[in-house]
Amino acid sequence: MDGKDLVDFSSRCPAWCVMHGAPDHSAVWHISGGSLLNLAGPSEPQRRESVDVRAALYPADDADAASWEPAVEVAHHLGGRYRVIRLTPAGARRVAELLTRAADHAEAGAG
Ligand SMILES: [Zn+2]
Repeated sequence: MDGKDLVDFSSRCPAWCVMHGAPDHSAVWHISGGSLLNLAGPSEPQRRESVDVRAALYPADDADAASWEPAVEVAHHLGGRYRVIRLTPAGARRVAELLTRAADHAEAGAG
């Protein structure tokens, strides 16, 4: 397969897409700009910590090219390393609820 077989990006790109591609010419994905949150921590660069959240679309595993799987990606950066957690939109909303509840509990506990 060569580049001519790739999906036409311009007609399919969501408004939030800032980057997309088909690294091995077999898949197309779209990803949004990041929302970067720097976390409080040590000032040494190798221990700096941040969280980056992005929206993404990936081709569905078992479907034709018209089918997309939406995802929310949370990247945890620590120094020069990072790890990405990929969630479904429903999973991301659930994590947001749990974080809010935990934050409420922690603040209430602090009196
Ligand atoms: Zn795109």
